[in-house]
Parts: sequence; structure tokens; C-alpha cells
Amino acid sequence: MNECVADPGPGTTATSRTTSPAARSPLAEPADLGHTLDVLEAWIEVVDAPGERERAGLVNDMLARSAAYPRLTDHARGWHLHYRDDRQPLGAVLFALISVGTALHLVSRGMDQLGRCAAADCEMIFADTSRTGRQRYCRQPCANRDAVRRHRARHSTPAT
Ligand SMILES: [Zn+2]
Ligand SMILES: [Zn+2]
Repeated sequence: MNECVADPGPGTTATSRTTSPAARSPLAEPADLGHTLDVLEAWIEVVDAPGERERAGLVNDMLARSAAYPRLTDHARGWHLHYRDDRQPLGAVLFALISVGTALHLVSRGMDQLGRCAAADCEMIFADTSRTGRQRYCRQPCANRDAVRRHRARHSTPAT
């Protein structure tokens, strides 16, 4: 998706002093931390949802809480879509980005293409973007560790 965190539109506010892209980014405020923790909490529920219906319902809740109708904008390097109202604080922007990004990922890759690493000692979350859609571990070291453990379990002689 072509979302971005920068605030749309040439500044009509106090931030128009400079024209660098960073200066047009929404200013972070103390409330944004709470909002960001909210989005992570909601998102982790999506990750751990027991089935695709539950997962869809939770993503829809996130979208309802954060996203607005999509709109075309060209405030930075070409036309793209925003899924939120203009001039939102950073926390609200992140909420919309993560909600819409997760929804787009699930419908394009598959509702089960988001989850936890299969290694018993790892709780990392990953979004499967592999070609096969069969990723089970967050990264290769976890896959290797698990393979070694399974190998040892098969070949170990019971201790007496
Ligand atoms: Zn943008
Ligand atoms: Zn892992």
C-alpha cells in the first residue's frame, strides 16, 4: 500500500517554517504514546485470533476505530492514497496505517499469513510475505534451532 506517515498538504500551520518532509510529519504528543500502545494491543489480538472469522472481526474493529474513507493526495512525490482524515496526530496516523496495512496484507496474502514463530522459545510475530506462503519461523536462526532440536529428539538415546 502507498500510505505514508507525513502529514498531507503544504503547511498552513506553524510547521510551515521549513519545507523538508520531516517538518511536515505530524508532531508527536504525549497522547500519541497511549494511542500507539492501543494499536499494538489491538494488533496483537489480531495476531493471536483463534480463527479467520475472529481475525476478520478484530481487523474490522481496528478499521472502524481508525480509518476514514480513502482519498487521493499528492502532497509528497506523486499521487497516493491516505486512509485517514487530514491533519491527524501521529498516534492516529499509526493506527490507520497498521489497521489498513494489516487488512491489505490479509486479503492479498491470505487470512492465515500472520502469526507467531513456531519455535517454542520464540514469541516473535511475523507477516508471511514468502512466495510459498508457508513461513513458520520469524527468521532463519529460529528455523535452524528448531531443526537441531527435532534432530536431537529423534536420535537421542533415552538417558538411564
Ligand atoms: Zn501521504
Ligand atoms: Zn522466532
